[in-house]
Amino acid sequence: MMTVLGCIINEHNIWLVGMAAVLCAAGSWVTARLYQRTFSTTGAQRIGWHILTALAAGVAIWCTHFVAMLGFDPGTPIGFDPVLTVVSLLTAVIGATAGFAIAGSRVARFMPALGGAVVGLAIAAMHYTGMMAYRVQGIVSWDMRYLIASIVLSVVLAAAALHMAMRSGRYAANVMAGILAFAIVALHFTGMTAFRVEPALIEGSFTNPEALHALALAVAGMAFVIVVAGMVSYLIDDSSRAETIERLRVMALNDPLTGLPNRANFGERLDHEFDLAKSQGGRLALVGIDLNRFKEINDLRGHSAGDEVLRILGRRMKGALRETEGEFVARTGGDEFAALYRMDNADGLSEFLSRLESACFQPIHIEDYAIMPGASFGVAIFPDDAADKTTLVNNADLAMYRAKSTAGGSACFYEPSMDETVRARRSLAADLREALAGNQLSIHYQVQTSVSTGEVQGYEALLRWNHPRLGPVSPAEFIPLAEENGLILPIGEWVLRTACATAATWDPPHKVAVNLSAVQFGHADLPRLIMEALMESGLPPERLELELTETTIYADKTRALHTVRQIKALGVSIALDDFGTGYSSLDTLRSFPFDRIKIDRSFLAETTPTPQSIAIIRAILALGKSLGIPVLAEGIETQDQLSMLSSEGCDEAQGFLLGRPGPMDQIAAAGQMRAGGGHRV
Ligand code: C2E
Ligand code: CA
Ligand code: CA
Repeated sequence: MMTVLGCIINEHNIWLVGMAAVLCAAGSWVTARLYQRTFSTTGAQRIGWHILTALAAGVAIWCTHFVAMLGFDPGTPIGFDPVLTVVSLLTAVIGATAGFAIAGSRVARFMPALGGAVVGLAIAAMHYTGMMAYRVQGIVSWDMRYLIASIVLSVVLAAAALHMAMRSGRYAANVMAGILAFAIVALHFTGMTAFRVEPALIEGSFTNPEALHALALAVAGMAFVIVVAGMVSYLIDDSSRAETIERLRVMALNDPLTGLPNRANFGERLDHEFDLAKSQGGRLALVGIDLNRFKEINDLRGHSAGDEVLRILGRRMKGALRETEGEFVARTGGDEFAALYRMDNADGLSEFLSRLESACFQPIHIEDYAIMPGASFGVAIFPDDAADKTTLVNNADLAMYRAKSTAGGSACFYEPSMDETVRARRSLAADLREALAGNQLSIHYQVQTSVSTGEVQGYEALLRWNHPRLGPVSPAEFIPLAEENGLILPIGEWVLRTACATAATWDPPHKVAVNLSAVQFGHADLPRLIMEALMESGLPPERLELELTETTIYADKTRALHTVRQIKALGVSIALDDFGTGYSSLDTLRSFPFDRIKIDRSFLAETTPTPQSIAIIRAILALGKSLGIPVLAEGIETQDQLSMLSSEGCDEAQGFLLGRPGPMDQIAAAGQMRAGGGHRV
């Protein structure tokens, strides 16, 4: 070791040695950076980075050697053999190329170390070829111990360098650069220690030290150019990578349609605001926003109109924010948004809400029509309503659902009783699972009568649930629950089979109307189920009528039409239920082969008909007439209503006045008809 140091200090020009060291360090650092880039690229890019890596390494190796050689002073005149000098340069570049290619071949775990060993051999081969090109006047001898040590050092260190580069840590590239530089320097100076010259001066020959120094500077300059070029291409690539990453980050955090922050972004912001409120003892309001009737807009006006509505509302809400005060709004789902507000006082919050409301409730003009949007707002406040984030989000949701079910635009604030409602709903849904098996379900029948003659036209089957603890539960309450959890399928099947079996026993043989939920209607098995119910009960198909609503059809019109045709092919008739409440589209009426239109009972809500409801009923009756479809009015409770329908020419009616829904035995006892008279199969 001391001999190596002595060789560096005593036999070299220290400035040139320093320059060689700087070159070696810079070249190794760039090599390591470039080499790392090959890991994360593929194809032509990967080959490109490989070539740059090998060039930088080759140049660093050779120039370090050459500049240091020029700084070496053997005490006699020197010269360089041009051919061998070029060969030594090529050895460095080609050897490094081969070494890095092996290291990057990924076929086995030890490949980087093997490639590194090849690079180490290349360094040694370059050095000793270079030494053969070095002509001195004197007798050259080699100390074999140092010579072998230099080769071993070079191979082991270079192998270690490339092996370390595979480590995933932040400093992997720097570690590789350090070891590689050490490999180059160690080989060179250990190799030079092995080199002995016994001067044998020839008269008149000398070297011009200035020319050699100029040559050293020129070589070093060229080397820096190459190394810097490699570094610059790395930096350019790095910054364009950073731009891409930034673009991806923006994309990942924003909703492309509205440009508003997305759900992930909202989550981050909520974390931040929540921590802020917690640490400063402040209050944070979370506002859940759900657009009203958005599905309807999408269905009626098409998805591009729906998108436009979202875009416009997004822009308006963003425009309504005071972002400097920490106000924030994000699109968190299809037609759902969420806002955050740092609360100083309650007035500020209500002013914030009214800004959001006016953004959501102003009409939107698209092409030649206007859409009246609207939204439901649910507010929960930290720490008043929730101690943690999840509860805060849940409670804002609860409040939002409450806002949805109460008409009007105003926001709902979370109240603890809402939890109670949800819990009750959940336990009701659980109880419903037992209802079918536990014989708690039954069917009531309500008569449908001809308005002009008072004759019975048929009976509508209405499901009843007698809850063991709560008593009778309204279908308006439990049918939506059953639709949510899929129980409507077995329950609906039970209603259909039971109603058909019961109606088959009726005398006289009246029709029976059974309600179908959208979930049942969307089920592929429906026509088969209907056929089975008819066959089992022996009920002739023309005595069964199925009631559908417009919402059921709207989910997928083409498919619905197909299903309706299949059902009608069985001979079963179809009624359009609750007409006037949904889309009331003329188009649906015209394109679907309905056998009956049922005017929703809300039009007869008042005991004495108002001019407006008479006008609507009149319009629907005219529509039915022109399409040749009979119309039935629901919810007839008074004689006035019946007389009005009679004078307007309504075909049929149903309601408490004509008969309340009741169990089969009650209807039989009232003498309306006999049960058990029909045939059963
Ligand atoms: P719907 O199909 O419109 O049924 C008519 C509803 O109006 C029944 O309510 C009936 O009791 C009520 N009604 C009849 N006459 C009058 C009247 O004069 N005044 C008033 N105010 N109401 C009257 P119900 O039985 O509570 O059923 C509510 C809804 O539950 C039904 O509305 C229907 O959509 C659904 N439903 C009932 N049974 C079934 C079923 O088996 N399957 C499915 N999918 N839905 C059902
Ligand atoms: Ca109905
Ligand atoms: Ca109805």
